[in-house]
Amino acid sequence: MNLQTKAIHSGYEKDSQGTMAVPIYMTTAYEFHDVEHAANLFSLKELGNIYTRLNNPTTDVFEKRFAEVEGGEAALATASGMSSIFYAIANSAEAGDNIICANQLYGGSLTLNGHTFKRFGIESRFFDVHKPEDIEVLIDDKTKVIFFESLTNPSIDVADIEAITAIANKHGILTVVDNTVATPVLCRPFEFGADISVHSTSKYTTGQGLAIGGILVERKGLVEKLKDNPRYPQFNEPDASYHGLVYVDVPLPPFALRARLSLLRDIGAVPSPFNSWLFIQGLETLSLRMKEHSANALKLAEYLESHPIVIKVNYPGLKSNSNYANAQKYFDDGASSGLLSFEVGSLEEAIKIVDATKLYSLVVNIGDTKSIITHPASTTHQQLKPDELVACGVPAGLIRISCGLESIKDLIADIDQALKA
Ligand code: PLP
Repeated sequence: MNLQTKAIHSGYEKDSQGTMAVPIYMTTAYEFHDVEHAANLFSLKELGNIYTRLNNPTTDVFEKRFAEVEGGEAALATASGMSSIFYAIANSAEAGDNIICANQLYGGSLTLNGHTFKRFGIESRFFDVHKPEDIEVLIDDKTKVIFFESLTNPSIDVADIEAITAIANKHGILTVVDNTVATPVLCRPFEFGADISVHSTSKYTTGQGLAIGGILVERKGLVEKLKDNPRYPQFNEPDASYHGLVYVDVPLPPFALRARLSLLRDIGAVPSPFNSWLFIQGLETLSLRMKEHSANALKLAEYLESHPIVIKVNYPGLKSNSNYANAQKYFDDGASSGLLSFEVGSLEEAIKIVDATKLYSLVVNIGDTKSIITHPASTTHQQLKPDELVACGVPAGLIRISCGLESIKDLIADIDQALKA
């Protein structure tokens, strides 16, 4: 089946009512047939519903469907994009270990990796996503994850996924890719050697800014990389917290299984079944929307590039962009999603332009049908000094746009009048 068909049908068998839409199973718990049935479910002799912190039939459809669309083997839906990243790393590393992260990450991931995991005894080492060759010197016996974004937010760079995963595979290290901005419609990281993908489904998956959520996907055949790999004893030795289960010996995808049975069970950042249902609705039209988001963003980027007061436009779909070759290689038809940024001469000029737009909402989100404008230097990156702003690719005059699905003529007309203001 093709991706568009999977996004509409995978993971759902119609119930006895023939319900076309996936039902919302709004329940906390499930009745067992008898004590033996309950015991079998707890010991994994039988698979089934126990309690919605562990699994839920609506969420199950979303997980199976998303995994199919991305070409993975299994998925674990979470309460937010941040919790999916937390689970992916906490499932791989422990106190005393280290992870290697790209510098160009979403701000929340930078603080999670650089500060919060540090408090848990996990060290983060950073590399420039444009220089995968710098990764190898950072690796030692305690390195458990290489983490990066396929299409970075907010710097809008495209990672050379194959170059990074080749280094990781040489050393038997897991790669975790945040594929939120590209989405599985434009980019499928497993085809390029990645092991785990994570997503904020709060963005393009819901598509209309309706709900916070996340998902972690495990590639097919990951068990072979984990089995007898000395870096990952937690998958090869009995889990005392789950009556001695050895994850690589169970005929289920081990990474997602352990994330569910230990992390989801103990930390509990699960989505509401209602939110899973919203994500299922979003997934059904994701491929159409991503084409439109990408087409609108390319036209807007081309318009901005031709404007005399615009110093620079960052959009990987532009031939002039340094990420163009990677976008062509890793994204279907080179379509580069809806995120772009452009630079004008000064902080004051940027603020004037942002305030003069009428159609764009001033919001710190991305991936909505409604176009969004932000000025990082006065919001998300406010605490940085001018030289620090330049160092992390966010000059004071930078404006970021998440291009929505309005008519491109209206989007260009609104920016045009704002640039003249
Ligand atoms: N990853 C990326 C690339 C993001 O842009 C975001 C949020 O903007 C997140 C993760 C975090 O997602 P959430 O807000 O759903 O926790």
